[in-house]
Amino acid sequence: MPVKETGLGNHAMLTKIDKLRELNVGSLIPLPQLVVVGDQSSGKSSVLESLTGFSFPRAPGLCTRYATQITCCRDPVTSVAISIIPRPDANEELKMKLLGFHRHIDGELDNDELANIFHEANLTMGIRMKTNDISQIGAFSQDILKIEVNGPEQNHLTVIDVPGIFRVPTPGLTTETDITLVENMVKSYMSNRRTIILAVMPCNVDIATQEILKLAEAADAEGTRTMGVLTKPDLATEIATRDAIIDLVVGKKGHLKLGYYVVKNRSADDSSSTLAERAAAEKAFFMDLPWTAIGDRCGISALKRRLRDILMKISKQEFPFVKAEIEQRLRKCEANLESMGPTRADQGSQRQYLGRLATSFQTTTQAALNANYAGERLFRSDPDLKLITRMIKLQNVFANVFREHAHMQQFDASSDANSSSDDNNEVSENRTPPVSNDVDKSESKKTVVAFKALLAKYCELHDIIVDKAYRCPKPDNKPIMDRITEVFDSSRGPDLGTFSGTVLSTIFEEQSEKWEPLTLFHVSNAIALVHDFIFRLLCHLCPEKQVRDQLWDSLLVDPLRVLYRKAMDHARFLLSIERGGRPSTFNHYFNDILQKKRGERLARSLENKSIDLADHYRERSGRYVSLEILRSSAMNKDNEKQVCEDILDIFESYYKVAQKRFVDIVYQQVISHFLLDGDESPVKAFGPDMVMRLNDEQLELIAGEDEEFKKRRMTLQQERVSLSAALKVVRA
Ligand code: GDP
Ligand code: MG
Repeated sequence: MPVKETGLGNHAMLTKIDKLRELNVGSLIPLPQLVVVGDQSSGKSSVLESLTGFSFPRAPGLCTRYATQITCCRDPVTSVAISIIPRPDANEELKMKLLGFHRHIDGELDNDELANIFHEANLTMGIRMKTNDISQIGAFSQDILKIEVNGPEQNHLTVIDVPGIFRVPTPGLTTETDITLVENMVKSYMSNRRTIILAVMPCNVDIATQEILKLAEAADAEGTRTMGVLTKPDLATEIATRDAIIDLVVGKKGHLKLGYYVVKNRSADDSSSTLAERAAAEKAFFMDLPWTAIGDRCGISALKRRLRDILMKISKQEFPFVKAEIEQRLRKCEANLESMGPTRADQGSQRQYLGRLATSFQTTTQAALNANYAGERLFRSDPDLKLITRMIKLQNVFANVFREHAHMQQFDASSDANSSSDDNNEVSENRTPPVSNDVDKSESKKTVVAFKALLAKYCELHDIIVDKAYRCPKPDNKPIMDRITEVFDSSRGPDLGTFSGTVLSTIFEEQSEKWEPLTLFHVSNAIALVHDFIFRLLCHLCPEKQVRDQLWDSLLVDPLRVLYRKAMDHARFLLSIERGGRPSTFNHYFNDILQKKRGERLARSLENKSIDLADHYRERSGRYVSLEILRSSAMNKDNEKQVCEDILDIFESYYKVAQKRFVDIVYQQVISHFLLDGDESPVKAFGPDMVMRLNDEQLELIAGEDEEFKKRRMTLQQERVSLSAALKVVRA
């Protein structure tokens, strides 16, 4: 492997990444790094020591209780600086205390001095060092101990040492919880996709059973960023064990793409040798068989060269992404802070906050009512907010079903199939195009499904709107004429050729029986839509769940229910007038239809007496009847039949006019006025007026900030500070 000298530019990039870690960006965005993991006593610290030239103090009980970041830098002066990077969730007080810890040693290191510094660092972090020491917080900490090693011999390299995994708690010192805590800490370092995992394992154990390899495989299934570092080769005395290791290193076994390295550190008995002596001893050790066969993968200097290369490569490759992620995360953080609004400590700011919310609620509502969707991003992200469009669709389905199916009996069983197109010919202006039955059916099915979902979502509507979707059955095919004759018979007076007014109203009431359930279902559906709109919009505009819930539960639901009830009552009122009152209309279409019906009836009765003159007079197509036949045709009818036919024509003409009028009025009054556009419609309930009327307690209840909220804001603010600083670093 060629030794690549670290250029100045590369050095600057590595420094930037170290700075990002110091800014705690590592907890937000994965940073390129080398992390040493392994079981307790597998030799992690020893490897680190050999790699960095930094000797951990040797003292009983001083095992790794927190992540330690060792950064080597080339500097003419030999020195070591030790400080603490506070855990991400530290409060201001703790943060100040931790940041206050700073030690600097010039020149060579003294073991006792170093042990002292470590001891002080542990105290600052609140690490329990002795058994049953309850004055301290715990045995492990999420803080990072940062050690900067400077010297003329150094090359830029940063390695992170994490606590070793262990399986049995020490009574009074470590607990089962600590085991999980450490395992999670190790896992979280390993899961970082930009971490190069150095899995340290001693040669004198069975590598295949090492748990750390399983953990590494779970975090890095491909094995592209895991390297095996085998320690204690001097303790592998059996030839079989050594052969197994050689096989592993040569690549006969194992799936790690970065391969395995073997290093020999100081043994437990050796407490006096210097680093240079250690290096010499290692070199001599690997001169022997069988290690010469894998010489390029033995020894700390080979490992160090390789690690520097890898770190450089991954840093170079990932740096642009890290930069982009910082920018992205900062934007998100700022958007979140923005949505939390300014601090709301007093009534003034609380009222202002709610006032703003109400104003934007009304602005969006106006856009939703006018189908003015272009300007608002919300309508694209949540198309269900297109209120007026949804409502018009609903009303269209209602109008179609009403026209096709709302009458109990078919008017004329024979003209059943084309009754709807007849209808359209009669009232020719402003008519809706005939809707195909299939489209109609699927639309009304959709309406039913949507209604059920809304009903399940909003239980506060249950005692106001209908509790079931109504599917309108088809009109009965029995001729209505029979029923008319019956009613006429039972209410007949002495008059000749006329009929009592109650005949019409009786039949009308019977014929319009389905109007009631159909209309009430429609209005219920409209109410559910409006309610859903209000709730959805509130969710979008007020992401603060606590504020939203209070606003909804204690301020909006009750007044909304009153308004919905009004709409339902009005629908019932319209039904009672239309169905219970005396039939009346001043609409001239009534006469148009009536005359046409009469004409048609006459034409039908003469149809088989007519002749076609086309054979004789080519230019006169159509059928003809003589005046004589016309004169005698009416004579064969009895009086009662004549009257009933009249009743049918009048009734049918009236029904059609009334039905159209009713559908329009339901929209105009119930939907449009009571639910959408009226000054007191539910969509206008949450406006600045309402906010102005709130008293101080209500304001505090709704818009006051609780502890959790304040904490979240603080976390976001800290995040913003770190990320802004990080952005400056990467852009520098
Ligand atoms: P850690 O708990 O993983 O950090 O392990 P340490 O680095 O503290 O090492 C545990 C023990 O193993 C120490 O006593 C070391 O001196 C010893 N040790 C580490 N590496 C070697 C090695 O290569 N050979 C021998 N004989 N002992 C080693
Ligand atoms: Mg250690």
